[in-house]
Amino acid sequence: MEDYDFLFKIVLIGNAGVGKTCLVRRFTQGLFPPGQGATIGVDFMIKTVEIKGEKIKLQIWDTAGQERFRSITQSYYRSANALILTYDISCEESFRCLPEWLKEIEQYASHQVVTVLVGNKIDLAQNREVSQQRAQEFAEAHNMFYLETSAKESDNVEKLFLDLACRLISEA
Ligand code: GDP
Ligand code: MG
Repeated sequence: MEDYDFLFKIVLIGNAGVGKTCLVRRFTQGLFPPGQGATIGVDFMIKTVEIKGEKIKLQIWDTAGQERFRSITQSYYRSANALILTYDISCEESFRCLPEWLKEIEQYASHQVVTVLVGNKIDLAQNREVSQQRAQEFAEAHNMFYLETSAKESDNVEKLFLDLACRLISEA
Protein backbone atom coordinates (compact mmCIF):
# COMPACT_ATOMS: atom_id res chain seq x y z
CA MET A 1 0.00 0.00 0.00
CA GLU A 2 1.17 3.53 -0.76
CA ASP A 3 2.00 5.74 2.20
CA TYR A 4 0.10 8.69 0.74
CA ASP A 5 -3.31 9.49 -0.73
CA PHE A 6 -2.16 11.99 -3.36
CA LEU A 7 1.10 12.70 -5.17
CA PHE A 8 1.55 16.04 -6.90
CA LYS A 9 4.44 17.40 -8.92
CA ILE A 10 5.08 21.10 -8.31
CA VAL A 11 7.57 22.94 -10.50
CA LEU A 12 9.24 26.28 -9.77
CA ILE A 13 10.07 28.64 -12.61
CA GLY A 14 11.12 32.28 -12.90
CA ASN A 15 14.30 34.25 -13.40
CA ALA A 16 17.53 33.33 -11.64
CA GLY A 17 17.92 35.11 -8.31
CA VAL A 18 14.24 35.58 -7.45
CA GLY A 19 14.45 33.07 -4.60
CA LYS A 20 13.06 29.80 -5.96
CA THR A 21 15.64 27.64 -4.24
CA CYS A 22 15.20 29.55 -0.98
CA LEU A 23 11.41 29.03 -1.10
CA VAL A 24 11.88 25.28 -1.54
CA ARG A 25 14.51 25.15 1.21
CA ARG A 26 12.33 27.13 3.57
CA PHE A 27 9.33 24.90 2.99
CA THR A 28 11.05 21.51 2.95
CA GLN A 29 13.79 22.10 5.52
CA GLY A 30 12.73 25.20 7.44
CA LEU A 31 16.00 26.88 6.53
CA PHE A 32 16.99 30.13 4.91
CA PRO A 33 20.45 29.62 3.45
CA PRO A 34 22.69 32.64 3.88
CA GLY A 35 24.42 34.16 0.86
CA GLN A 36 24.44 33.00 -2.74
CA GLY A 37 24.51 29.62 -4.35
CA ALA A 38 21.73 27.87 -2.53
CA THR A 39 21.95 24.88 -4.81
CA ILE A 40 19.92 21.89 -3.78
CA GLY A 41 21.81 19.56 -6.10
CA VAL A 42 18.96 17.17 -6.76
CA ASP A 43 16.12 17.32 -9.26
CA PHE A 44 13.40 17.53 -6.67
CA MET A 45 12.60 17.58 -2.96
CA ILE A 46 9.79 15.66 -1.31
CA LYS A 47 7.59 16.86 1.49
CA THR A 48 4.51 15.08 2.74
CA VAL A 49 1.76 17.20 4.27
CA GLU A 50 -1.55 16.25 5.81
CA ILE A 51 -4.73 18.12 4.94
CA LYS A 52 -8.12 17.05 6.30
CA GLY A 53 -6.79 13.58 7.07
CA GLU A 54 -5.35 13.06 3.58
CA LYS A 55 -1.64 12.45 3.17
CA ILE A 56 -0.32 14.47 0.27
CA LYS A 57 3.13 13.87 -1.08
CA LEU A 58 4.54 16.95 -2.80
CA GLN A 59 7.35 16.42 -5.26
CA ILE A 60 8.87 19.87 -5.66
CA TRP A 61 11.12 20.52 -8.65
CA ASP A 62 13.64 23.35 -8.60
CA THR A 63 15.87 24.41 -11.49
CA ALA A 64 19.59 23.97 -11.09
CA GLY A 65 20.61 27.30 -12.58
CA GLN A 66 18.93 26.58 -15.90
CA GLU A 67 16.63 29.58 -15.87
CA ARG A 68 17.52 31.03 -19.25
CA PHE A 69 14.49 30.83 -21.52
CA ARG A 70 14.34 27.74 -23.66
CA SER A 71 17.02 25.98 -21.66
CA ILE A 72 14.47 24.38 -19.37
CA THR A 73 12.88 21.79 -21.55
CA GLN A 74 9.71 19.88 -21.76
CA SER A 75 10.85 17.16 -19.39
CA TYR A 76 10.89 19.64 -16.52
CA TYR A 77 7.29 20.67 -17.12
CA ARG A 78 6.08 17.20 -18.03
CA SER A 79 3.34 15.90 -15.78
CA ALA A 80 3.58 18.94 -13.50
CA ASN A 81 0.32 19.39 -11.60
CA ALA A 82 1.23 22.91 -10.50
CA LEU A 83 3.66 25.66 -11.40
CA ILE A 84 5.00 28.32 -9.07
CA LEU A 85 5.96 31.24 -11.29
CA THR A 86 8.19 33.44 -9.17
CA TYR A 87 9.45 37.00 -9.46
CA ASP A 88 11.17 39.32 -7.00
CA ILE A 89 9.05 42.29 -5.84
CA SER A 90 12.24 44.37 -5.59
CA CYS A 91 13.29 43.59 -9.17
CA GLU A 92 11.25 45.05 -12.03
CA GLU A 93 13.22 43.00 -14.54
CA SER A 94 12.07 39.72 -12.99
CA PHE A 95 8.45 40.87 -13.40
CA ARG A 96 8.95 42.08 -16.97
CA CYS A 97 10.17 38.62 -17.95
CA LEU A 98 6.93 36.94 -16.88
CA PRO A 99 5.38 36.94 -20.38
CA GLU A 100 8.37 34.93 -21.60
CA TRP A 101 7.70 32.38 -18.90
CA LEU A 102 4.02 32.26 -19.83
CA LYS A 103 5.03 31.39 -23.39
CA GLU A 104 7.02 28.47 -22.07
CA ILE A 105 4.14 27.33 -19.91
CA GLU A 106 1.81 27.45 -22.87
CA GLN A 107 4.24 25.48 -24.96
CA TYR A 108 5.32 22.84 -22.49
CA ALA A 109 2.91 22.46 -19.58
CA SER A 110 -0.35 20.58 -19.40
CA HIS A 111 -3.45 22.66 -20.10
CA GLN A 112 -4.82 21.61 -16.72
CA VAL A 113 -1.81 22.89 -14.79
CA VAL A 114 -2.56 25.13 -11.81
CA THR A 115 -0.30 28.20 -11.77
CA VAL A 116 0.47 30.46 -8.85
CA LEU A 117 2.22 33.78 -9.39
CA VAL A 118 4.51 34.46 -6.45
CA GLY A 119 6.10 37.82 -5.63
CA ASN A 120 8.96 36.87 -3.32
CA LYS A 121 11.18 38.99 -1.01
CA ILE A 122 8.40 41.03 0.63
CA ASP A 123 10.85 41.63 3.48
CA LEU A 124 12.48 44.06 1.00
CA ALA A 125 9.29 46.16 0.80
CA GLN A 126 11.33 49.35 1.14
CA ASN A 127 12.87 48.48 -2.25
CA ARG A 128 9.62 47.43 -3.89
CA GLU A 129 9.56 47.92 -7.68
CA VAL A 130 6.41 45.94 -8.50
CA SER A 131 3.14 46.97 -6.86
CA GLN A 132 0.69 44.39 -5.56
CA GLN A 133 -2.02 45.81 -7.76
CA ARG A 134 0.01 45.39 -10.93
CA ALA A 135 0.86 41.82 -10.04
CA GLN A 136 -2.72 41.03 -9.04
CA GLU A 137 -4.00 42.35 -12.37
CA PHE A 138 -1.39 40.41 -14.30
CA ALA A 139 -2.28 37.22 -12.42
CA GLU A 140 -6.01 37.68 -13.04
CA ALA A 141 -5.46 38.39 -16.72
CA HIS A 142 -3.60 35.09 -17.05
CA ASN A 143 -5.75 32.91 -14.87
CA MET A 144 -3.22 32.54 -12.08
CA PHE A 145 -3.52 32.66 -8.32
CA TYR A 146 -1.32 35.29 -6.69
CA LEU A 147 0.57 35.48 -3.42
CA GLU A 148 3.50 37.42 -1.99
CA THR A 149 6.10 35.65 0.12
CA SER A 150 9.37 36.01 1.94
CA ALA A 151 11.57 32.93 2.01
CA LYS A 152 13.84 34.87 4.33
CA GLU A 153 11.21 35.68 6.97
CA SER A 154 9.14 32.58 6.29
CA ASP A 155 6.22 34.77 5.34
CA ASN A 156 3.40 32.96 3.45
CA VAL A 157 5.70 30.10 2.39
CA GLU A 158 3.77 27.37 4.19
CA LYS A 159 0.54 28.97 2.94
CA LEU A 160 1.79 28.92 -0.64
CA PHE A 161 2.38 25.18 -0.68
CA LEU A 162 -0.60 24.20 1.50
CA ASP A 163 -3.11 26.31 -0.46
CA LEU A 164 -1.72 24.80 -3.63
CA ALA A 165 -2.10 21.27 -2.24
CA CYS A 166 -5.72 22.07 -1.27
CA ARG A 167 -6.50 23.31 -4.77
CA LEU A 168 -4.90 20.27 -6.35
CA ILE A 169 -6.95 17.93 -4.17
CA SER A 170 -10.14 19.76 -5.03
CA GLU A 171 -9.37 19.36 -8.73
CA ALA A 172 -8.07 15.78 -8.53
P1 GDP B 1 16.92 31.28 -7.43
O1 GDP B 1 18.00 31.56 -8.40
O2 GDP B 1 15.58 31.73 -7.94
O3 GDP B 1 16.89 29.84 -6.97
O4 GDP B 1 17.21 32.19 -6.15
P2 GDP B 1 17.90 31.79 -4.75
O5 GDP B 1 16.94 31.00 -3.92
O6 GDP B 1 19.23 31.17 -5.02
O7 GDP B 1 18.05 33.22 -4.09
C1 GDP B 1 18.76 34.25 -4.75
C2 GDP B 1 19.20 35.30 -3.75
O8 GDP B 1 18.07 35.94 -3.18
C3 GDP B 1 20.00 34.74 -2.57
O9 GDP B 1 21.02 35.67 -2.25
C4 GDP B 1 19.00 34.64 -1.45
O10 GDP B 1 19.60 34.76 -0.19
C5 GDP B 1 18.09 35.82 -1.77
N1 GDP B 1 16.70 35.60 -1.32
C6 GDP B 1 15.89 34.56 -1.60
N2 GDP B 1 14.69 34.70 -1.04
C7 GDP B 1 14.72 35.88 -0.36
C8 GDP B 1 13.76 36.59 0.43
O11 GDP B 1 12.61 36.18 0.67
N3 GDP B 1 14.18 37.81 0.93
C9 GDP B 1 15.42 38.30 0.71
N4 GDP B 1 15.74 39.48 1.26
N5 GDP B 1 16.34 37.65 -0.02
C10 GDP B 1 15.99 36.46 -0.56
MG1 MG C 1 18.01 28.23 -7.62
